[in-house]
Amino acid sequence: MALSDSVQVLPSVGPKRLEALQDLGISTIEDLLTYFPYRYDDLKSKELAEIQNDEKVTLSGTVASEPVVSYFGRHRNRLVFRLLIKNDVVPVTFFNQPWLDKQVVVGEEIAVYGRFDGNKKTLSGMKIIKAAEGMDSIYPASKSIRQSTIRNLIEVAWDKYQNEIQTIIPSAIRQRYKLMDRKLMIHDMHFPDGQYAAKLARRTAKFEEFFIFQMRLQLVKQADRLEDGLSIDYKISELTDLIASLPFELTDAQKRVVNEICVDLKRPTHMNRLLQGDVGSGKTIVAALAVYATITAGYQTALMAPTEILAEQHAENLQKTFKDFPVNIVLLTGSTKVAVRKQILPRIKNGEVNLIIGTHALIQDEVQYHKLGLVIIDEQHRFGVHQRQILREKGERPNVLAMTATPIPRTLQITSYGEMDISVIDELPAGRKKIKTTWLRSNETDKALRFVRDQLTLGRQIYVVTPLIEESEVMDMRNAQAIYDRLRTDFEPAYKVGLLNGRMKSNEKEDVMRAFKANEFQVLVATTVIEVGVDVPNATVMMIYDADHFGLAQLHQLRGRVGRSNLASYCLLIADPKNQQAIERMEVMTKTNDGFVLSQRDLELRGSGDILGNKQSGLPEFNVGDPVADLKMLSIAQEEANEITDDENWEREPDNQVLGNYLNENWKGHMAFD
Ligand code: ADP
Ligand code: MG
Repeated sequence: MALSDSVQVLPSVGPKRLEALQDLGISTIEDLLTYFPYRYDDLKSKELAEIQNDEKVTLSGTVASEPVVSYFGRHRNRLVFRLLIKNDVVPVTFFNQPWLDKQVVVGEEIAVYGRFDGNKKTLSGMKIIKAAEGMDSIYPASKSIRQSTIRNLIEVAWDKYQNEIQTIIPSAIRQRYKLMDRKLMIHDMHFPDGQYAAKLARRTAKFEEFFIFQMRLQLVKQADRLEDGLSIDYKISELTDLIASLPFELTDAQKRVVNEICVDLKRPTHMNRLLQGDVGSGKTIVAALAVYATITAGYQTALMAPTEILAEQHAENLQKTFKDFPVNIVLLTGSTKVAVRKQILPRIKNGEVNLIIGTHALIQDEVQYHKLGLVIIDEQHRFGVHQRQILREKGERPNVLAMTATPIPRTLQITSYGEMDISVIDELPAGRKKIKTTWLRSNETDKALRFVRDQLTLGRQIYVVTPLIEESEVMDMRNAQAIYDRLRTDFEPAYKVGLLNGRMKSNEKEDVMRAFKANEFQVLVATTVIEVGVDVPNATVMMIYDADHFGLAQLHQLRGRVGRSNLASYCLLIADPKNQQAIERMEVMTKTNDGFVLSQRDLELRGSGDILGNKQSGLPEFNVGDPVADLKMLSIAQEEANEITDDENWEREPDNQVLGNYLNENWKGHMAFD
């Protein structure tokens, strides 16, 4: 007898019920016992005087009238009787449960759970309570299995298996955080003696869930680390030469992450690292140093960007950076001419070229590398898991450096990205001016446009962004076309206005971006499709219409399109927010330029429900824990798991025995790793 037994061992589980349970993710006794209630109804009786209007309560009293069932319509009916509670008479109504009348006998004591109407002093009954029931656990159910059935199964399983339950969390950790043993936790999750006991049990259940999750992550990471990888044996002096050639001094944050990356490259293990830094924090030069370390050690590097224009921009920048260094760069994208391709491919294959920059074109079959030592993936979230995988398989476990300008809030760092090492550039180069952000109401739009004209007069360029519109919203939101028409009337012919919208094909969009970059027009009206990462240093104003329709992360990304030079830059938010949350977003934007602060605030404002439902975010689903609200506990679980797995022989430690066995037996393959 073990918790790993199938639920089929329970007498009332046949093939049909088994299927219903499996649909809920329940296959074993362990699954069933950790299928927790999402709320508890307090069934203890209350005095009439202490009940709030609309409160769900249990009332006990004497049945004072015969139950009467009346039918209305074909399937609907109501059962009514009076309940005498001390000196008060409360009418009780049950809808569509006519069979309850057998349990309602005049003169007998009865307890009824339901919703109390404080004005009419009536009770809308939900169920009749057997004596001695204190709390009722409510489980998520489905069409094919009722929650009362689930509860009964759990009771049976508990009776039979309770002595098999061993505590997974090592006792040292359990004592440190005052957690319950597992048997008590499971008992009190299902059958608590009051809301407080349930709350305490939930605290332990959450920790256990986070801790097991983090143990799995750490073990995957450890396995990855232990497998062989390439050791990039570069010389420090080569790197210092490159650093000395730069027109600026690296920031402390850049130095720190360069060090983290280079130490990792040198290790004979596989690097899997995420480099995060806000727009303008200087990720490119950090990447360049990693490239150079790899190249001087005799390996090739591939840099993959999500769009052609970004790949071109990288090629252009890196050509400059490596002007006086032995780096041979090629650019390979979808629009590279066949003749040029024919020349390039053999040079990649024979190793003559050592830095290959491009788009998806880099992962096509015909591209064969010589000695691929490092793969850099820019804006990594824009690529599918599969594409990243292919590029990796082009070499023998090359080191991987993924880059992103989207600040990843801590919650996601330690869940979705938990298997990667993370380097963060949390500092902007000195002298970078803050982007001054102002929030204006829509009746102040003219003021904003006067400011735009002033900037145009100074020779600057302007982004004007408007949210994508859906048909139903046409009435209250200005669309890009209308704004484009208006700005043309205002500014042409002195200044030219361009338009970029979501319906354009990607090469059309790229052409518009190139033209804007070349200052062929001065004002760019766009829906949110402007390419993140494209540098137009001369653009100094980001004006956003209906800014309250964007999330904080998006607003911050848009704002990052300006402030790419020493010129003073501005962000103008035009918005008439209709709710408190949107007002708060506008205010936060005007107060901080820090992407990490904004992204965590964004998560908090939206709540994890929003993210949990969103597959894109890649946030794993937790059963009891909430990775946003319970961030602190999640972090602690990570630290503890980290500490345990740091010791390669952790499984031999007696205190870790149950944990080790549990992980071996319950290695569910549903973790989202690539
Ligand atoms: P991002 O992190 O957005 O990719 P970039 O690498 O494109 O940022 O850098 C933005 C600009 O800042 C570039 O023009 C780059 O040359 C410059 N830059 C990078 N690091 C520094 C530094 N330490 N001091 C001054 N300027 C820097
Ligand atoms: Mg960049």
